[in-house]
This record gives sequence, structure tokens and C-alpha cells, in this order.
Amino acid sequence: MKRDPLMDEPEGIEVRKIDLDPKKEGSPAGRKHNMELSIAAWIFVVLFALLIGRVVFINVFEAESLRNNLNNTKADSNSENVIRGDIRTLDGTVLATTLVDENANQTRSYPFDNVFAHVVGYASNGKSGLEAEENYSLMSSHSSLLQQIRAQESGEKVQGDRVIVTLDAKLQQTAYYALGSYSGAVVVMEPDTGRILAMVSKPDFNPNTIGIEWENLVSDSSSSALLNRATQGLYPPGSTFKMITTLGYLRAHPKDYSDFSWNCEGALTEGDVRITCYGDQVHGLEDLGGAFSNSCNTAFARIGLELDNEKFRDIAQEFLFNHSLPTSMQHSQSVFRLTKDSPDGEQMTTAIGQGDTLVTPLHMALITSTIANGGIMMRPYYVDHIESSDGTVVKQNEPEIYRKILTPDESGVISEYMKRTAETGTAAALSGNGYTVAGKTGSAEYDRDGVTGTHSWFCGFAQTGDPHVAIAVIAEDGGTGSSTAVPIAKQILDTFFYG
Ligand SMILES: [Zn+2]
Repeated sequence: MKRDPLMDEPEGIEVRKIDLDPKKEGSPAGRKHNMELSIAAWIFVVLFALLIGRVVFINVFEAESLRNNLNNTKADSNSENVIRGDIRTLDGTVLATTLVDENANQTRSYPFDNVFAHVVGYASNGKSGLEAEENYSLMSSHSSLLQQIRAQESGEKVQGDRVIVTLDAKLQQTAYYALGSYSGAVVVMEPDTGRILAMVSKPDFNPNTIGIEWENLVSDSSSSALLNRATQGLYPPGSTFKMITTLGYLRAHPKDYSDFSWNCEGALTEGDVRITCYGDQVHGLEDLGGAFSNSCNTAFARIGLELDNEKFRDIAQEFLFNHSLPTSMQHSQSVFRLTKDSPDGEQMTTAIGQGDTLVTPLHMALITSTIANGGIMMRPYYVDHIESSDGTVVKQNEPEIYRKILTPDESGVISEYMKRTAETGTAAALSGNGYTVAGKTGSAEYDRDGVTGTHSWFCGFAQTGDPHVAIAVIAEDGGTGSSTAVPIAKQILDTFFYG
């Protein structure tokens, strides 16, 4: 029977019977003997107390970090006794399982090949994704005592626990095929729970053949196919960052933001930095919502010049730029570099999501979800629960509020502008499909060692009054958000609402 090593009694403690025979009292030898005994007893008591204290300390304070450290040592040493458990969705779809042949040889199998590659991960040649993060659970067994005794008697291995994920296989497949041959990522989540419904990263790999492909995968640094771009890819956010710049403006003008007015002439120059609207468009006279839904760069560059850099930075950091996200998923920190001494040009580029700002797709999905959820950020998670091989729940994860970031008024205004974007603005292709969308496109220009291009972004949620789904899509070198990321999002939303 497998036992939790942290709950086991400390080994090596023998409870010795100490002779305290009262008859021996009185004689000098007896006193000496008693004194030695009581010293020994006290030493024993103190040592025992220290040991107990240590056990309590480990259980209370160090259990989590020990558990993590134990992942690759204790858990892997369990492989002599435990068959690595399945990873499944809530409806029972198997994403990873261990096949055992008649000679008891084991093969880890991934029925969806590349579709869940990064999120589920691999368990040979090292470990990644859920295979790494949930290694301890997959290699532990809470199967019934009867099953464990039977396994022990027959010399067979006992079945490891299952990890049940919140991912939806159909939505994942839609997102995977919708991204097509683009490099990039898709994250789909529930704004009011933080549950991840789909997470795709490309280029990808087939975890079934990772052993054969390994040398190619690690030597091809240009495509970095092993990297989970959804959680670890750092991209310029482009105009999707205008959601945050808008909040900066709302906080600077809580009473009169609706008086904002800007006449876009297609370009704005300050010092040696010239900001133009995408495709040399001239947007003319706009209010704040119009500038947002047209994704007008000159309007937002002007807002960037006006905002107090430190307050702008505070807002970005409230949204967890330069911080870890509240999740157990492995991920990169997004970057926001503007400081109080940053020059005008940097203020302008930062306000339109260019400059030095970098963000992960998971983070953009979380920011979008927070706006959709009335300003409350939920902790993102994709493990619904751990269960034994006979289906008994061992550990259940529940939605958890991380923090309130916007007031309902602030999230309401930004949602309204996003709704306008998806009705008549740059994401208008999402209107008239039977569901209502609020969103923001981005066309993020990059210059990497002289190589330039434009990444296509879309972030949004649906339905507008009652959001159940939030999406972040990035297609590398996909051009404008409207041309590539929006049609990808539409396919995902169609599947979400119509199956
Ligand atoms: Zn403009």
C-alpha cells in the first residue's frame, strides 16, 4: 500500500521501557541509576519533541515545496509499483494514458497526437505540461485497499491516480485547426471561474513520437516547437494593450472621460518619434469609444503623452505585468518597462502596445476575462480534480477570486467600447452570428534583429451581457488582427455556442 511519505511516522524511533522501579529508591546506587535514567528519559523526551516538531513543521510549512521537490524523485521511484495515471477531460475523453502489453511493457499514449501537445506535455525525455506539473498525482495511487492488496499479491503494479482537466476536447480541436499553419497560440477560458477550456500552441510536436523526434526538436531553435507559446511566449501586445491604456485614461478622467475628443489626421509626431494609424488610415473626429473601436494609434499615443508614467505603470502592474500570474501553470512574466523618466516617444509607443511591453497569450486571456468579469480576476486553472482509478475524488479544485482590479463602472465602460469594436469596428466580422461579442484587435509590429513583421491579435469575450467565454488569439506574422485572428476567434466562438 502506498502511503504519503509526509504522513508516515518518523522512522528509527523506538519507545524503550525505562526502568523507574521505586524499590531502588533510597540507595545511593539506586539514586544514581535513577538520575541516569531520568537524564536519559529527558534527553529522549527532548529529542522526541524535536522530531515531532520537525514532522509537524514539515507537514504544515514545507509540505508544498517538498511535494514539488518530491515530484521527480519520490514519484518516479513509484514507477516500480504504480502505472502512471490517465489525463482526461471532465466528459471522460482520454488525453493521455499508459498502455501495458502482455509482457508488462508500458507505453505512454496520447490519442489526440499534436492537438494537446503543449498543455498535456510529454513524460519521456524529461517532462513538460501537465505531465510535469501533475507528476506527483499521476504517480500516486489512491485506489482501494482491496485493489492494492490484489496488486501486491499478484506482483502487479497498481493504477495511478487520474488528473481530470477543465479543457474541452472539441473546443481544443477547433482552436488547433483554426490556428492552422500559423505559429502562435490560443487560450480560451471562463471569465467567471478562471477555468481554461482550450490552450493551443504552434508549432507543435507529437508526444507519441517525442523519443524519435527529440534530437530534431531540441536542435531546431528557430521554431522552438517545444515552447508552450500560450504560457511562455512573450509578444508585443499591439493594440490589445489599449484596453489597459483606456483604463489609465478613465482613472485620470473619472468624471469627464466621455468629453474626450481627438481629430485623427493619420499621424502624430513628438520629437523624433512618429506614430501613424495602421495602413495610413485617417480616422477624423473621434470620441474615446470611437478611437478604441477604430484602434486609432494617434489618439492613444496622445493619451500616452498625457498619462502620468508612474500611474500608468501602477495600472499595468495591478494587471500583473512584471509579476507572476496567480496560477500553478508554468509561465513567463509579462514585461512593462515604462518608468517616470521614459521619454515622450516611449510613452506614445507604450500606450499603443508597442515599445518594450511584452505579454503572454495566457495573460491577455486573463486581462480580457477580468474585464468581462466586472473587474474581478479569477485564478486561472486547468486541473478540475484528481481522482483514483476507481473514480473517487482525491482533490477538487474550485474557482478562486484572485483580486478585484477594476470597478464595475470601469469594466463596464471598457466592455462597452469592446462591444462597439465587435459591432462596427475592427472586429465587426464577429457581429451577426447569433451571439454578441466584445473584443479588441491588435496588429503588433515587431523588429527582431532587422527582421520585421506584424503579429495578428484578438482578445474578446461573449456574450456581452453575460460572458461565459473569453479568448486570446495570436497568429505570428498574421498581419492585422481583423484579417487573421478575428476569423480564428469566430470559429472558436461558433463551436462554443453551436457545438
Ligand atoms: Zn487614427
